[in-house]
Amino acid sequence: MSSSRWALSGRWGVDDARCGELLTLVVDRASGRVEEVLSGLGSSANAGDLCEQRHGGETSILAPGYVDLHVHGAAGFDFADGSDEAFSVICRHHARFGTTALCATILASSPEATLRAIEVGRQKLGLVGRGARVVGLHLEGPFLAPERAGAQPPEHLRAPDPLLLEELLAAAAGGISLMTLAPELPGALPLVERLVDAGVVVSMGHSSATYEQACAGIAAGCRLGTHAFNAMRGLHHREPGLAGALLTRDELVAEVIADGQHVAAPVLEILWRLKGQRSEPGAADVGHGKLALITDCTAALDAPAGGARLGNTSVQVNDGAVRLPDGTLAGSALTMERAVSGLATMTSASWEAARGAASRTPAALIDAPLGGAEVGAVADLVLYDGEGALEQVFIGGAPQLAAREEEKR
Ligand SMILES: [Zn+2]
Repeated sequence: MSSSRWALSGRWGVDDARCGELLTLVVDRASGRVEEVLSGLGSSANAGDLCEQRHGGETSILAPGYVDLHVHGAAGFDFADGSDEAFSVICRHHARFGTTALCATILASSPEATLRAIEVGRQKLGLVGRGARVVGLHLEGPFLAPERAGAQPPEHLRAPDPLLLEELLAAAAGGISLMTLAPELPGALPLVERLVDAGVVVSMGHSSATYEQACAGIAAGCRLGTHAFNAMRGLHHREPGLAGALLTRDELVAEVIADGQHVAAPVLEILWRLKGQRSEPGAADVGHGKLALITDCTAALDAPAGGARLGNTSVQVNDGAVRLPDGTLAGSALTMERAVSGLATMTSASWEAARGAASRTPAALIDAPLGGAEVGAVADLVLYDGEGALEQVFIGGAPQLAAREEEKR
């Protein structure tokens, strides 16, 4: 039996060289890759007859799937649980909202719990089945500043510890993509250098770093800032802090939680203007933006009653905001789909550029699989209908949402 091919049509909805073109991607279901790129809806000889299924059409939008660098959980589960079930449920859940690849993010936990989560995560790396691909682990801690713990459990924060770091690196065997640490902690900079040597992208966050200290972090190799403006010094005109470094230093990509709760719209606009895509949509050389949309989503998203928590701490969900009992924001219940609409509606970013901040920018940072409108690209794609509703999500060509007719039954 010849392998099955599907045709996906729509206007290309991300700010790269093909932005706005109506095209049809012929996807080979066996390889999970784009086999042919046809203009328009594709002639019947090319697409109609050879393809088993057609999706989308003239009014649809087709774009790369979203890559979430910072996500803790969903549906009552947290990656830090370190269970097979947690990984499967969270990856399947986020795929429904357009996430095709993610970094399983482990908050500061006991060394034993972190090692267990690393062990399970390592086995999930690169698997393409149902749900978002786990492209790596993001260790958010434990080398964080206690006074900027936010919702991180203070009892699990540690001073920079080279021996513990070696243990984590060895257990992960190359599976750590990102690590968040506070660069101003004594002994942090040698850890940054060690992590960079090991191929890990180091992010500054949960930190009281001054501008100078953040610059020292950049010199040591830091390339990302964790949830810009949250759990760091605010921007002060005499002490710009880590926030000031994030805004002005092009070496750094900035993560941001665009849910309207973590960062006010005008500040999001400042971030967008300084870190967003600066070339015109459709330009031949678009480069990569420096603003990466993340969810920082916790188990609270669609959690069963009483199941909202971050790690082992229970949290409350009110009006879409997730908080500790004392009111501290504790991650989010955001999805990548809503992060894109947040940036596109709260700032001057176009929808196409916002989708780029959710796909091309984060994928480039950690070299993650990225869907594309070119032959050989992975078929990790989102398809929106004419009304802007997410109609289907493809990971390696495999549809992640049940057909609407099926759901109605
Ligand atoms: Zn955090």
